[in-house]
This record gives sequence, structure tokens and C-alpha cells, in this order.
Amino acid sequence: MDVESIPKEQAFPGDVIALAEEYIPGRNSTDENGEIVSNVFGEIVRDDQELNISVRPYKERQTIHRNDIAYARVLKVDQRRASLRIGAIYNRKMGLVSYDAEVSLGLGGRFSRGPPLVLRIGDLIRVRVLRTGSRGIELGIYGDNLGVLRTTCYRCRNILELKNGALYCENCDKTEMRKVAPDYGNINFEEE
Ligand SMILES: [Zn+2]
Repeated sequence: MDVESIPKEQAFPGDVIALAEEYIPGRNSTDENGEIVSNVFGEIVRDDQELNISVRPYKERQTIHRNDIAYARVLKVDQRRASLRIGAIYNRKMGLVSYDAEVSLGLGGRFSRGPPLVLRIGDLIRVRVLRTGSRGIELGIYGDNLGVLRTTCYRCRNILELKNGALYCENCDKTEMRKVAPDYGNINFEEE
């Protein structure tokens, strides 16, 4: 079989693309407790000589617009802000496309309602673009369809299940709170 005829394999942000015992995470992928997870929407690229797996975004440097949906992973959190790595954006016209950018998300302020929002490193989240412009991209996470889509246990790194509105770890018999999206664990990437 020549290279051209091998079907392309695609990954969505948060997809497990290999096990750490099989491959070393390369570009746009992260080792999470022995599972290599894609950070972006793109094509899976395996280097079987170097045993390296990475994900190549389909289209980079697409422009981002107000009201687009963004899929992102949480890189860093403090009390007021989270640093995110966007891996894909969706709107009805373009469909789902790769988009690679680091953006900061405010956790509070005038868009917040209810209890303080908790995010943790490694959370895969859906956010909405509220504004773009010279001061950067402003994202919101407070809409009904927005929030955490997949995450792992803080203590044992097991994938958390949505149970009675909270995220539950079967290993630890513990729950963690998040602002969870309704399609947590069964992600609809064409959600608006
Ligand atoms: Zn656990």
C-alpha cells in the first residue's frame, strides 16, 4: 500500500490517539496518565521509526469570529484566569476547523453567575467567542451548552464520569465540581 492510499485518521481535541507505551507524544498531543491525547482537530501522523505520534491541524490560522464555538484544553489556572490552548473552532458556515492559539479566559467578572467557576489543567472545554479585536479574543463559558466536555480525576487521572450533575471518579469514589456541558463524555462537535 503506498502512502497516498492509506486513509487519513482524524482526531478531535481530547481524543485518545495512542497509549504512552506505544508512542511518544509529538506536536499537538499530550501524555495524560499513559494516554496520548490530541490537543487539536486534525490528522493523526505516526512516525513508526521514532515512535512519535502527533496531530497535524487541517487548516491553521483561520480567522476567528464573534459567536464561534471554540474547543480548548486548559493549560494553567489561577483564581481569576485560565490559560487555554484552542484546538478547533466551529461555526455553521465553516464546520469544524483546526485553530491553534493560546488564549486567556476570565473566570468571573460581568459574565459570571452563580458559584465561582472551577477549571483544572487538562480539562477539555467548549467556549464561545464573545469578542475579537485589538485587545485579543474574549471567551465565555457561561452559556448552557458551554463548559467542560472531558476531564480526568485530579488524584488518580482516571477519566471522570458525569453522575447526578457532578463529575465522579470510580477509583477514588470522589466527585469534582465543574461547569459541565450537557454533552459531557459524548461530545457533539457540531454544537452551537
Ligand atoms: Zn480518581
